[in-house]
Amino acid sequence: MTDIEDAIARVPHGDALNIFVSFDASDARAHALTAEQMKSDTSPGLLLGVPVAIKDNIATTTLTTSCGSRILEGYVSPFEATAVTKLRAAGAVPFGKTNMDEFGMGSSTEHSAFGPTRNPLAPDRVPGGSSGGSAAAVAAGIVPIALGSETGGSVRQPAAFCGVVGIKPSYGRVSRYGLVAFASSLDHIGVFGATVDDAARALEVIAGFDEHDATSVDMPVPHYHTAGERSVKGLVIGRPREYFPDSLDAEVRRRCDVALDRLRALGAEIRDVSLPHTGLAIPTYYIIAPAEASANLARFDGVRYGLRMEGQGLREMYEATRSGGFGPEVTRRIMLGTYVLSAGYYDAYYRKAQRVRTLIADDFRAVFESGVDVLFTPTAPTPAFPIGSISDPYAMYLSDIFTVTANLAGVPAMSVPVGRIGGLPIGGQIIAKHFDEMSMVRVAYALELALGAEARQ
Ligand code: GLN
Repeated sequence: MTDIEDAIARVPHGDALNIFVSFDASDARAHALTAEQMKSDTSPGLLLGVPVAIKDNIATTTLTTSCGSRILEGYVSPFEATAVTKLRAAGAVPFGKTNMDEFGMGSSTEHSAFGPTRNPLAPDRVPGGSSGGSAAAVAAGIVPIALGSETGGSVRQPAAFCGVVGIKPSYGRVSRYGLVAFASSLDHIGVFGATVDDAARALEVIAGFDEHDATSVDMPVPHYHTAGERSVKGLVIGRPREYFPDSLDAEVRRRCDVALDRLRALGAEIRDVSLPHTGLAIPTYYIIAPAEASANLARFDGVRYGLRMEGQGLREMYEATRSGGFGPEVTRRIMLGTYVLSAGYYDAYYRKAQRVRTLIADDFRAVFESGVDVLFTPTAPTPAFPIGSISDPYAMYLSDIFTVTANLAGVPAMSVPVGRIGGLPIGGQIIAKHFDEMSMVRVAYALELALGAEARQ
């Protein structure tokens, strides 16, 4: 209980950084009381009494689920996401809804209708996105764990920018029931942790089959929080050359290579590998994701959810609601998506992108079949950039260059802090084969221990 009061006392710090879209101390206290009553249970949950912040596109029945958008401002869901239900069953305390790029579209949290979130380590910089509020809530020390979502890197990239741990599980490992859809074939719920252990525990709690989500997979969930008990000796770690281009920031490269040296010293074998279609990932993602978004966001029509702006007749009402409710990036994506799906362009863009997506997934399959256990890469090409410094949408899209591939292929991937440049955190990315989160987390535990304070210097 005192933990929750401590966390509540830290919220004003979060307000200064614009971390929460909605927070209510009495709501957190009510959840804490329920958790308190679980203390006497024979097997107390893995997260008993732990406050967990939740991204604003994951449904909760108290507080808003507004997706960082005017169109859902103040909207409260009639049902709860399975991930939240599972967290509560494990004793966790849902702790506020966090700011995000509108509907998850962005890499900086600047596309929120409720203003940008600031990076707790450098308040003039972005925290990354789209789950920037969740990453910042952990980095600011308000909560040790937060839920985020990923379509193309929205957990890993902000984790890297904020110096925390972020996990995107395999597609199908965690139920998306209650996650507001952006691009359904790419969407995942993921977790942030202050440490690898925090993130591993959170993943363990939310993973598993759910009858409400037909894409969730019915297979046993390992005890991720025990992954650190096995050393990395004998593991083969691939270093894909396409993720270390000549143009890569020299310090980002150096920090990642130091991390690989540490893993080698622990007995892992480091192998140079190639994922030849990596360069096609950004254009592929930015065709498929907007295409799916244009269909998913059709439901926001002023009739069934949230905002409604009046007009003369139905058509004008739709137009007024959608043009008044969606911000510029969401509008751009809907237009792009509608274009690539339209007759005459479908084959040239959408179908071709789906084919390239298969090639990208095949790259991963081939490298893992060749005996590589996990891959190691930078999470993002640069550290956090200043708020307002990127105005070109395409330049913003390039921030996802190393993360969208794992969403296109569906493989699990995570970011761990590997050091800082001038006080700004750098993340290293570990990617594993489908449903082998265990090996990925095992490497993360080992690396965290081996780097020690170096990861935060
Ligand atoms: N930044 C990417 C985009 O804008 C990824 C977003 C996400 O993962 N939700 O689409």
